[in-house]
Amino acid sequence: MVVETNERPATQTPQFSMELNEEQRQIQKWVHGFAKDVVRPAAHEWDEREETPWPIIHEAAKIGLYSFEFLQNAFADPTGLTMPIANEELFWGDAGIGLAIMGSTLCVAGIVANGTPEQIVEWVPQCFGTPDKIQMGAFGVSEPDAGSDVSSLKSRAVYDESKDEWVLNGTKTWITNGGIADVHVLVLSVDPELNSRGHAAFVVPPGTPGLSEGQKFKKHGIRASHTAEVVLDNVRVPGRCLLGGKEKLDARLARAREGKSSKVQAAMA
Ligand SMILES: Cc1cc2nc3c(=O)[nH]c(=O)nc-3n(C[C@H](O)[C@H](O)[C@H](O)COP(=O)(O)OP(=O)(O)OC[C@H]3O[C@@H](n4cnc5c(N)ncnc54)[C@H](O)[C@@H]3O)c2cc1C
Repeated sequence: MVVETNERPATQTPQFSMELNEEQRQIQKWVHGFAKDVVRPAAHEWDEREETPWPIIHEAAKIGLYSFEFLQNAFADPTGLTMPIANEELFWGDAGIGLAIMGSTLCVAGIVANGTPEQIVEWVPQCFGTPDKIQMGAFGVSEPDAGSDVSSLKSRAVYDESKDEWVLNGTKTWITNGGIADVHVLVLSVDPELNSRGHAAFVVPPGTPGLSEGQKFKKHGIRASHTAEVVLDNVRVPGRCLLGGKEKLDARLARAREGKSSKVQAAMA
C-alpha cells in the first residue's frame, strides 16, 4: 500500500537559522558604531525638539546608511536578516532617530510592491536624494476611521479622463514624514463599493499643489520622527502616478466586480 505524505525529503527541507554570516556581522558592527557614536549623543536633543533630525540623517547618508543602495542590498539578503539587524542596532541608538532614518523605506516598499519597473526607477531614488540634497518619502494608508481596518478608507481618487489625471481628496493620519516628505505614496479608494479591493496606490510628486501637512502629532515616544496628517484638497496627479498603471488597475477592478479572485486568492479559498 502506498501511503501519501506531505513530508518533504530531507534534502528539500528549507533551512532557517538566526546564525549571522560574516557580512551580516560586519553590517551589525557598522550600524552599531553609527548608533553609538552619532545617534546616542544626539538622541536627547532631538527627542526634546520633537523635530526631524536632518543633520543626523545627513550623517547617515554620508556613510551610505540612508540610501537606496543600502536598502537594495538589505532587501536582496536571502536570509531576510540584514534589515532587522540594522534596525535593531539603529533603534538601540534612539527609536525616534531610527524611524527618521528608516521612515522613507515604507514609501520605497509601497513603490516596489505596486510600481512598474519604470516607476521604481523614477521614484525610489527620490525617496533618498543624495548626501548633498537629502530627500524623504512618506507612505500613507491610515485615516481617522481606518487604522487596522484599512477596508474603511474614505479618501478618494477619481480619474479625469479628459486630462489623464487623478484627482485625490481626503485626509491621511499618523503618517511618518507626512507633509514634509518629497515623495508621498498614498493608498486611496477608487471604487468604495469594492472596499479593500477598490484601493489603489498613487505617487504624489514633490511640490504638488493641494497636498498639505495637517496637524503634527505630539507623541510619548519616538519623538524625533515626524508624524502628521496629510490633507489632500483636489490634488491632481498625472495618470502615470498611479502605481502599476491603469490597465492593470482596470483589470483588477473588473475581476473584483465579477467576484473573481486572483490566482493566489483562489488557491487560498
Ligand atoms: C509612530 C507611528 C507612526 C505611524 N506611521 C504611519 C505611516 O507612516 N503610514 C500609515 O499609513 N500609518 C502610520 N501609522 C498608523 C498605524 O499604521 C496605525 O496606528 C495602525 O494601523 C493602527 O490603527 P489605529 O491606531 O487606528 O488603531 P485601531 O485600528 O483602532 O486599533 C486599536 C487596538 O485594537 C486592536 N484591534 C484593531 N482591530 C482589531 C481586530 N479586528 N481584532 C483584534 N484586535 C484589533 C489593535 O491591535 C490595537 O491594539 C503610524 C502610527 C504610529 C503610532
